[in-house]
Amino acid sequence: MKALQYRTAGSAPEVVEIPVPQVGPGQILIKVTAAGVCHSDEFVMNMPAEQVAPMLPLTLGHEGAGIVHELGEGVTEFQLGDAVAVYGPWGCGRCQNCAAGKENYCSNAAADGIRPPGLGAPGAMAEYMLVDNARHLVPLEGLDPVANVSLTDAGLTPYHAIKNSLPKLGAGTTAVVIGTGGLGHVGIQILRALSGATVIALDVTEGKLELAREVGAHHAILSDSGAVAAIKELTGGRGANAVFDFVGIQPTVNIAAAAVAAEGDVTIVGIGGGMLPVGFGSIAYDAAVRTPYWGSRSELIEVLEMARRGQITVEVETFALKEAPTVYERLHAGDIRGRAVLLP
Ligand code: NAD
Ligand code: ZN
Repeated sequence: MKALQYRTAGSAPEVVEIPVPQVGPGQILIKVTAAGVCHSDEFVMNMPAEQVAPMLPLTLGHEGAGIVHELGEGVTEFQLGDAVAVYGPWGCGRCQNCAAGKENYCSNAAADGIRPPGLGAPGAMAEYMLVDNARHLVPLEGLDPVANVSLTDAGLTPYHAIKNSLPKLGAGTTAVVIGTGGLGHVGIQILRALSGATVIALDVTEGKLELAREVGAHHAILSDSGAVAAIKELTGGRGANAVFDFVGIQPTVNIAAAAVAAEGDVTIVGIGGGMLPVGFGSIAYDAAVRTPYWGSRSELIEVLEMARRGQITVEVETFALKEAPTVYERLHAGDIRGRAVLLP
């Protein structure tokens, strides 16, 4: 089968021919219908050689959807032909967090060497993908795989981040979304659907700000040295009750810290390496700083339900698997509108 693999540290990913995976007991083989392209893939491909080497060659793709193609011994939860989405943050399934569906915070994953597909285990950018357990599949139930595959990360991650701040986002409040790309443009829609907040979006190009407005941002402003003053002005000097940073580089983390209101939340989702040293007086009184990772199994079901009800839509650009290397170049250049999805 064809697969997109990151094979040599520092080189571009390549489309290669590899064997279709063998299905073991309890496992499920899906025929991939869609695979989303996330900025985190670039993070993996920028990791130092000695750190990434043990994972190579790595079939990329941690946003996956497919059709159940083969069932391993003992699997009864699904039938051949079922359309499914893959829950990506795989855990051990037996610790307390996994028992609560929060496999993204599995206590044993690191020690047991459990890695998410596309981020250590073979991922979805291939004709077939092996899923380790039925627990990690959610039925699509009528949702189009291409339009919705990215909800498994670009929907689930902002949903998890935003859900924890909802008690602070009642009527008359303000939420700021920094970075209106794959995650951010879904985040804006989740905020509009679930909170009473006025949404202010920040990005670096007029095209991205236009997308932000289209998906529901009340205000969309450039992420520059004037951004904090603009947020203060729009909030009558109070600042934002929650800031979601979907970039996470030093300049955006600085904006987030300076723009948050007293008792507000700063949520750093982007893994751009920005740091926020917090001490008394360095940030608004009683502000909280969080660094969430992905989301829980039940939250994925909730996100898919929002899509079914028409509350969120992913802006998708589709590409063939062989175009993937160019897609990553475009993503790096900030040239993808919404999410790029590969059709293996
Ligand atoms: P993306 O490339 O689709 O979107 C990033 C957006 O940020 C683009 O619109 C870009 O124009 C904008 N941007 C760049 N510099 C900016 C700046 N200085 N100010 C404001 N906007 C700026 O990326 P994505 O796939 O949405 O991922 C966003 C980030 O979230 C990445 O760092 C990714 O690795 C990370 N991520 C984290 C998790 C998690 O669980 N914490 C999960 C998925 C992705
Ligand atoms: Zn991702």
